[in-house]
This record gives sequence, structure tokens and C-alpha cells, in this order.
Amino acid sequence: MKKDTTQIVEKLLASPQEIVIVGHKNPDGDAVGSCLGLSFFLKSLGHNTTVVMPNDFPDFLKWLPGVEEIIIYEKDRETTADLVKTANVVFTLDFNSLDRVGELQTVLENTAAKFVMIDHHQQPADYAAATYSDVKMSSTSEMVYHFIDALGKTEKLSKEIAVNLYTGIMTDTGSFRFSSTSPTTHRVAAKLIEAGAESATVNQNVYDTNSPERMKLLGVALNNLVILPELHTAYITLTQKDLDDHNFKKGDTEGFVNYALSVKGINFAVIFIENKQESIVKISFRSKGHFSVNDFARNHYSGGGHINAAGGKSSQDLNKTINEFISILPRYKNELTNAL
Ligand code: 5GP
Ligand code: MN
Repeated sequence: MKKDTTQIVEKLLASPQEIVIVGHKNPDGDAVGSCLGLSFFLKSLGHNTTVVMPNDFPDFLKWLPGVEEIIIYEKDRETTADLVKTANVVFTLDFNSLDRVGELQTVLENTAAKFVMIDHHQQPADYAAATYSDVKMSSTSEMVYHFIDALGKTEKLSKEIAVNLYTGIMTDTGSFRFSSTSPTTHRVAAKLIEAGAESATVNQNVYDTNSPERMKLLGVALNNLVILPELHTAYITLTQKDLDDHNFKKGDTEGFVNYALSVKGINFAVIFIENKQESIVKISFRSKGHFSVNDFARNHYSGGGHINAAGGKSSQDLNKTINEFISILPRYKNELTNAL
């Protein structure tokens, strides 16, 4: 974290504050872990904190320390509005622009509170009094560790903080696999283990709590896998019926797209998931090497993210969405062929 950012933060936190910490819509392990980790840390400094998420998050995160105190905006709009109104400081974590929180955006835009952004996504928006943005970071959870370190407060690392941050780093790096995993990421993970995060327990809680329906849905997804070898692309589709038939719950499709990317020779993987309730097709993009799915998602699917992991959506029906995707792809043939 830059010196001037640290100084602004130190000023903002010089006396006990009313703080709201917000993660992005459809929160993942990094969003929830970084927000809860930061919340425990700020509480240890004497601040009053509340974590708010725009909507619900997967069950495989519901064991995290402090999770029971999270306010879900979609379920508790009035409480959220009151909290944001009375807050002096709002931390926004793991997203780069306020439209990533859905309808909660207008609530955030109408507060007099000062904002602090901690995030590792590309192209950060300019709304915060203090912006700690670093697109090279493995995860926002790793950044929260560096944030604590920059304030000279690593002695405050508790087991609760460590478990939350370790979970965020582990999930956002695909268990320390993605290229964003640096030597420093491993050093931070080691510090978190020393502070009480047990790797085996975190892994079990996150990865070994699948429902039978989720595993069957994975079978359907793999069966629906389409491989386009000349374009080094593989994609998966799931219809609303596929989801309904398997008693779909939030988070059940997390990680499915990685199976498409795991095919030899594939540099670009996509999963299209029909969402009839929101009248959209939600899309996840993954890539290997230099092919920027952040650019692809921004240019074609009003989305964004990172170079190798991004998301977006289409408001056309599933068939049209796929046909359009297939028609766009050949333009990228060179990039897709030479990604590695
Ligand atoms: P996922 O595919 O796992 O939902 O998301 C992959 C990455 O892209 C995450 O970092 C996530 O924050 C980002 N992302 C997912 N959906 C969207 C979207 O609709 N818009 C933007 N800007 N980013 C997204
Ligand atoms: Mn993240």
C-alpha cells in the first residue's frame, strides 16, 4: 500500500468510527473472507463495524468466523440503509466500481461517509478517499493482510482474521494454482497459518461439503461441454431446467468452468448459466496465458474482472447468447491460438 494511502487511512481511523464494509454482488470466498477479516481487525482497533453483502452467498462459506453477523441487503434493506447513513467510513472490498453491488449502489451513492477501496480488479473507479488497488495481487484477502501490515498492526492478527483471509486467498487463487499466486502470497499464507488458520480444516469446509445434487449437476455440465479445438475454446451451458432438476443453490456451479479450461489445448473456457428470474444468462470466462477475458467480457458482455477470470451477462435467451458467442469467436482466433 502506498504511503499517502496509508496516511489517509490512518487519519480516517484515528478515533473510533462507525464503519460499514461492503463486498460485491454474488459474493465469493474472497469477498466474504476479506470483509470478515477486515471487520475483525477494525473491531480490534476499537471501531464499530458491520459487514454488508448485496445478496446471499454460498453455503460453503457459512462456517466462516463472524458470518452470522453479515447483513444481506436484499433481505434487510432498511437496516442496511440506516447503517450506511450513519457510517463515517465505508470500506468497499473486492470490486472496482459501485455498479458491482447491484441495487445497493444508490444507497452507497447517497451517504456522506468517506470511502476506502481495497481491490485487485482491473480499472478501478475513482470514488474513494483512499484507494488501495493492485491488479497484481492474488486476492483482496491478501491485500487486507498487507493493509494490516502497512498500519504496523500485524500483532492484531487473530485466528478469526487468519481463517477468513486464508479462505479468501485459497479460493481466489484456485488453491494457490493461478498465475496471480506470488512468493509473497505464500509468505502471507504462512503467516496466516501461524496465526491459527488450519489449511486442512479450511479445505474441508470449503471443498468437501458438496451436496449430492451439486455433484449430479456437475455431471450434466460436463455432459454439456462443447469443445472447439481450432479456436482453443471450450464452453458449458446449463439451462434453468438443469438447475431446477438439481435443486440448485447459490454457489453450486462455482468452479465448473475450470473443468472446461482443464482440457488440453484449451486456452479459453466459458460457462453460460440461464437465470430465468433475472431474465439473463450469467457468464463466467476463464483463460490461460495472455488472452484477456477481462477485455472480452467488457467488450461483449457488460462485464469485467481479471485477465484470466472474468464474468458478464447477456439479456438474450440462452440459444441466441450461444449463437452470438460462436459468431464472435473467430475474430479472436489468432489471440486464442497464441495465448501461451
Ligand atoms: P466469476 O466468473 O467467478 O463469477 O467471476 C470471475 C471474476 O470476474 C471475479 O473477480 C468477479 O468479481 C468478476 N465478475 C464476475 N461477474 C462480473 C460482472 O458481471 N461484471 C464485472 N465487472 N465483473 C464480474
Ligand atoms: Mn477477489
